[in-house]
Amino acid sequence: MIDFLIIGGGIAGVSAAARLSALGSVTLLEGEDALAYHTSGRSAAMFEQNYGKPSTIPLNKASHAFHDQADVLSPRGLLLVGNADTADAFATDARQMQLAQISMQEAKDMVPILDDAAVDRTAYHEAAWDIDTDKLIQCFARTARENGAAIHTKTHVDDIKRNSKGWVVSAGTVTFEAQNLVNAAGAWVDQIATLAGIAPLGFTPLRRSMARIPAPGGHDVSTWPMMFGPGENWYAKADAGALIVSPAEEDATTPHDAYADDMVLAEGLARYEANVTEPVTRLLSSWAGLRTFSPDRTLVLGPDAQDPNFIWCAGQGGYGMQSAPAASQLLADLISGGPSDLPVDAITALSPQRFT
Ligand SMILES: Cc1cc2nc3c(=O)[nH]c(=O)nc-3n(C[C@H](O)[C@H](O)[C@H](O)COP(=O)(O)OP(=O)(O)OC[C@H]3O[C@@H](n4cnc5c(N)ncnc54)[C@H](O)[C@@H]3O)c2cc1C
Repeated sequence: MIDFLIIGGGIAGVSAAARLSALGSVTLLEGEDALAYHTSGRSAAMFEQNYGKPSTIPLNKASHAFHDQADVLSPRGLLLVGNADTADAFATDARQMQLAQISMQEAKDMVPILDDAAVDRTAYHEAAWDIDTDKLIQCFARTARENGAAIHTKTHVDDIKRNSKGWVVSAGTVTFEAQNLVNAAGAWVDQIATLAGIAPLGFTPLRRSMARIPAPGGHDVSTWPMMFGPGENWYAKADAGALIVSPAEEDATTPHDAYADDMVLAEGLARYEANVTEPVTRLLSSWAGLRTFSPDRTLVLGPDAQDPNFIWCAGQGGYGMQSAPAASQLLADLISGGPSDLPVDAITALSPQRFT
């Protein structure tokens, strides 16, 4: 009998495996051929600790030391660009992310393609980093394996039964018996709950697309900060010599292997292009991922209100990478009864009990 059976091999499941393997035996099941095939392999890989709802920010902040120690962060910076038409959204974003207003010249010293005719206000801070997401996932997977956890890919869970001792989980002809079931299935978390006879909580996967374009005007973009349009209506970031640009859409969908919507991508690229002097000449590649949110857009971490042996690790939305170290530690603390460094109101805000 396994102590913790985790469904889902994205950042949520793998980080949970690392933490829970310090408490008992762990087996993680991932349906795809490799870990991080879905949303966790498709993110913008940004660590901006002031990005997200007030309930997410304590998790981001509490994750910083782990990211540093794991050596997964590299400097990026964040630059917000706007004009008189977007003044309100610009002011709100600058306040929320604690960005300091800088001159247009200072901004152009960093990003020379900013268009004076379109942009008349800019705000910036250095305190935003690229996350090496592969390294982060491998770091958690290594810890889990060192603690004896088993990680099975190509193992798609298709049946879950409850009995007096715990759970019997089937993936084709293979079955696993576990005392606790950890639901870290990303966009599929409500489907897993339903399969287990647990009331779904109403998660919505929201598609977000990404385009990879050649470095504008042949510039060296490696030192450019991430650029944000006000109200998050586009963003752009250097990525291995090219630029990734997202329309930053939130289009509700059903759980599936997501792909970019061409029209949404074209409109998003036009919003980005309106701020710069270099046109988008071609697309190198595109992709999309599902940012999955609970009804109040806050993560759901901890034992289910009706069945404490069913544990939610869900609703990571657009913050799953940056918040994973603290989110997974909180999950372990909630299960072991150990003290948490997080404020009590932050823990309450994340609890599945809020949906009862
Ligand atoms: C375009 C984009 C940009 C983003 N940018 C950032 C960013 O800059 N910073 C940040 O922190 N976050 C960002 N995010 C959000 C982040 O990527 C997610 O919050 C995170 O990846 C969610 O991880 P997860 O493990 O919950 O989901 P997933 O990575 O989707 O993992 C869930 C896994 O469960 C598996 N699964 C489902 N059902 C079953 C089953 N029945 N049996 C077995 N396995 C199953 C799936 O195959 C999947 O691999 C971004 C997301 C997108 C789409």
